[in-house]
Amino acid sequence: MNDCDSPELIAYDDALAQITSSISALGRVSHLPLKQALGAVLAESITSSIDVPGNDLSAMDGYAINTEDFAVSGITTLPLSQRIAAGSAACPLAPASVARIFTGAPVPQGANAVIMQEQARVDGDSISFDNCPAVGANIRPAGNDIRRGDTILQKGCRLRPQEIGLAASIGLRTLPLFEPVKVGIFFTGDELVEPGEVLGAGKIYDSNRYTLHGLLQSLGCEIIDLGLVGDTLEATRQAMLDACDQADLVVTSGGVSVGEEDHVRIAIEQLGELRLWRLGIKPGKPLAYGQIRDTAFIGLPGNPVSVFATFCLFVCPVISILQGRGWKKPLSFPLRAGFDWPEPDSRREFLRARLELDSSNETLVQIFPNQDSGVLTSTVWADGFVEIAENQTLVTGEEVNYIPFAHFFS
Ligand code: AMP
Ligand code: MG
Repeated sequence: MNDCDSPELIAYDDALAQITSSISALGRVSHLPLKQALGAVLAESITSSIDVPGNDLSAMDGYAINTEDFAVSGITTLPLSQRIAAGSAACPLAPASVARIFTGAPVPQGANAVIMQEQARVDGDSISFDNCPAVGANIRPAGNDIRRGDTILQKGCRLRPQEIGLAASIGLRTLPLFEPVKVGIFFTGDELVEPGEVLGAGKIYDSNRYTLHGLLQSLGCEIIDLGLVGDTLEATRQAMLDACDQADLVVTSGGVSVGEEDHVRIAIEQLGELRLWRLGIKPGKPLAYGQIRDTAFIGLPGNPVSVFATFCLFVCPVISILQGRGWKKPLSFPLRAGFDWPEPDSRREFLRARLELDSSNETLVQIFPNQDSGVLTSTVWADGFVEIAENQTLVTGEEVNYIPFAHFFS
């Protein structure tokens, strides 16, 4: 039977729903210093116990004044009464005077605006201004960024540099984080050789190992790498048991198809439960999903593009749920296609694509000319996927669904 007509292919939406509903959060929490928090997932929402900033601060280098000391019209000249640098404490502003003030310094009691130094004329200790500023000008009020009691970070957020900076801004030294998901990986294929080694006849370099390392690192996972595994059922079973013993999730590449050298699916059936196999997607049809003991197992196909695509489509959701973040379908954009797609396929297709500008500087989405699942170059050229629905055809100018790769990792 032709693959496209095969009744047993599981539709993408069904497969994703089945996989995500079978996973739950691990929930192990530890408190780590801020410098170790990048990429980790926050285990509790964070509430501030302080205002940020704690005082009214000057936003400029200039002069703190009270607008009531200004003449109704014309030039105002006032004496200098104090100098306030960032980090110092201010005295109340002496009546009818100005204070020299610097960016980040506390605004003295009695002042209600700061005039930038470029708008002042200095003659010894006499400072003259042409115009009266608005009340509050160039002052960052206390609590301008954060107010005491505000929830500044939500449980389940992935910590980027800016979240870590925000936590530091309220004085936290550590954060409660979900411990990294431990992901066991191995790679099947007698044809595989490690980069740096001599490439013998019939061999290829193992690229999936390095793609997977990068993908898992970008999700903040702990990687347990069992390396290359030969194409025998016994070696595959042994690697699977080792990986499942140590990991929360096992992800492998290759050996899930229907050839005599493909042992991963059979080993899952023997050692645990095969829950899904053969999906209605392109690339990535032979993906196998199952469970061995308490560990979820995702056997990705061997083709390098299939590894990348199915990682985004299925492994990202699984890891996100294990990490305590849940999973929402990544945001996609309807965009004008810069290409035709004349051949319908019964599988949902995920084409490697990127945004480009047409001759009138309008955005459109273009696809890499070679969509073969062995052409890893397509994933480097592209920034995202065009999602083509089952049996859909397309002509240039029609709208298509574009999903940036980054949306799977946010
Ligand atoms: P398989 O799913 O094992 O039949 O492999 C499908 C294709 O992917 C074959 O052409 C393999 O040589 C290739 N392949 C499998 N594993 C890797 C790997 N780790 N790196 C690069 N290519 C691979
Ligand atoms: Mg193989």
